[in-house]
Amino acid sequence: MNIVLLGAPGAGKGTQAEKLVSEYGFTHLSTGDVLRAAVAEGTPLGLEAKKYMDAGDLVPDEVVVGLVEETLKADPEGSYLLDGFPRTPTQAVSLDTVLSNLGQELDYAIALQVDMESVVDRMCSRRCCRDCGAIGNVSDGPTCPKCGGEMYQRDDDNEETVRNRIEVYNKQTSPLIDYYHGNGILVEVDGNKTPDEVFSAICDVLS
Ligand code: AMP
Repeated sequence: MNIVLLGAPGAGKGTQAEKLVSEYGFTHLSTGDVLRAAVAEGTPLGLEAKKYMDAGDLVPDEVVVGLVEETLKADPEGSYLLDGFPRTPTQAVSLDTVLSNLGQELDYAIALQVDMESVVDRMCSRRCCRDCGAIGNVSDGPTCPKCGGEMYQRDDDNEETVRNRIEVYNKQTSPLIDYYHGNGILVEVDGNKTPDEVFSAICDVLS
């Protein structure tokens, strides 16, 4: 089974992805994580991507599609959870093509719907673990409650960038709701509830 998690920045995609991977054993592909790793390593891709990411803009489609295609082709039988991809209609069409060339398809596009007012606060107080990638909050303190690693604030989790990321989502990514509705695989889930309640709603769909 292959699924896509859709939602505005701060809708809880990363949190739900962690839970879904541990429950269903999906291979988690977060394009944001792949790009951040490239930035940290200082690769040419990372250097190119950083300027877009720091501004809260999207990295060009061809760069991101190439990354995803490479990963999917490396394990064509895999069962993928795509988090943060696709983010534009062009990426969605490319994903359909790549999957179909591998004899695979998307089973569900799960859209986490959240109240946009709460998103800015959620994002600005978000912290991530440098070691295990767990997602937490400033109130968790400087140490990861899961692995003891260092919690840090992403460069793009500041108010100005978050506001641009929301605008980018509204303009470039939200048309995917109609795209997947048209394909008959869209499932909308209320992302304003607690993480466990949201997870339970997603599990109801998958089981
Ligand atoms: P995320 O971790 O999903 O919030 O992504 C962080 C940043 O990485 C985004 O604001 C974009 O700059 C970039 N990014 C991640 N995924 C994509 C994508 N599918 N297409 C274009 N840019 C992306």
